[in-house]
Amino acid sequence: MTSPSTDGASRRHRVVVVGGGFGGLHAVRALRGAPVEITLVDRRNYHLFQPLVYQVATGALSPGEIAVPLRHIFQRDRNVRVVLGEVTRIDLHGRQLLYRPAESDHGDDRGTLAYDSLVVAAGSSYSYFGRDEWGTLAPSVKSIEDAIEVRRRILAAFEAAEIETDPARKQALLDLETVQVRDRRGGSRTTENEFSTVQT
Ligand SMILES: Cc1cc2nc3c(=O)[nH]c(=O)nc-3n(C[C@H](O)[C@H](O)[C@H](O)COP(=O)(O)OP(=O)(O)OC[C@H]3O[C@@H](n4cnc5c(N)ncnc54)[C@H](O)[C@@H]3O)c2cc1C
Repeated sequence: MTSPSTDGASRRHRVVVVGGGFGGLHAVRALRGAPVEITLVDRRNYHLFQPLVYQVATGALSPGEIAVPLRHIFQRDRNVRVVLGEVTRIDLHGRQLLYRPAESDHGDDRGTLAYDSLVVAAGSSYSYFGRDEWGTLAPSVKSIEDAIEVRRRILAAFEAAEIETDPARKQALLDLETVQVRDRRGGSRTTENEFSTVQT
């Protein structure tokens, strides 16, 4: 697949994929045999297997067991390039996105990536239903950083219980609560009904 460049010559179609989670990986895998140039940009240089983040948070697995470097996944695919950076802006009209490179000293958006087709698979974040202060007590469990923080809290509570002499207080330190909130329609149907596409 070719696209005309500004000087009239043809070049390979450029696909930029934002996000190396399940969504981004599937998009790149589906396209890697196609005659296109793919750039996968993520603020992390690894794919995180999110369903196992709980196991890291509870000490059953180590972080390295649920994270695979993106470059390793696509090392044999000559038309796939991996870029480490935080995407900060998408210029739909100019068909380019701006990103902050990983080690940017200035915190500015110095990187640009031009595209012919863009796939945005940047994931989601927790909702506390307007009660963001709950986040301090019930942190998200979506990243390695989250998991390590939750694990730290659990182990610190167990250590405190170990030296606690008051039985009631000891029990309180050993009690853990997990909270799952479902929307009124029943969780899984949320994304199904809220998916949308943008064509430019
Ligand atoms: C603890 C837990 C357990 C789960 N268990 C299950 C399960 O059993 N079964 C199931 O089907 N699903 C499960 N899920 C849900 C499933 O893991 C997610 O739906 C899936 O990982 C979402 O994939 P994604 O590609 O949309 O987003 P993500 O995996 O979040 O990937 C988004 C990527 O985009 C990158 N990114 C985001 N913003 C930017 C930016 N501005 N610039 C650059 N990069 C950016 C992120 O670094 C990330 O790599 C679970 C989720 C969690 C947290």
